[in-house]
Amino acid sequence: MPEEEAVIYRGRIRMPYTWAVGETGSFFLTQLRDHARIWGTRCPQCRRTMVPPRRNCPRCLAKTHWLQLEPRGSLVTYTVVHYRHRIHPPQEPLIYGVIKLEGADTGLTHLLGEVDPADLRPGLLLEAVFKEPEQRRGHILDILYFRPREVTGS
Ligand SMILES: [Zn+2]
Repeated sequence: MPEEEAVIYRGRIRMPYTWAVGETGSFFLTQLRDHARIWGTRCPQCRRTMVPPRRNCPRCLAKTHWLQLEPRGSLVTYTVVHYRHRIHPPQEPLIYGVIKLEGADTGLTHLLGEVDPADLRPGLLLEAVFKEPEQRRGHILDILYFRPREVTGS
């Protein structure tokens, strides 16, 4: 019996595709596009609020209900990216953050802007900056980025 040789080819495949985001994703993204509103879902049993929204709770599988959130929250963690890649929207350096919106129990990963990386720290208060209405297309990048927000009041 002849000896077998494993032949390995190393290549790169660039594969365009389309993907239906489903009922939950469609509502979330059209609300961003049409109203600059961020919606999450809340589990009636665990009482956890999730952003991005989930149709069913990943912990107990209960059907969730919709809940509109304010477009502001705080920074959980972040990373500064110094290399260029076609999947990154803006020019480097760019900053990805995990933002916990007020009232949410999960983090939303998004870009941070109008901030010096040296000023970043967990707990930093942030607000969403949306694209102009005519530029929004039902995509997570209808939110341009989150930026530090001024805290007013007593
Ligand atoms: Zn649950």
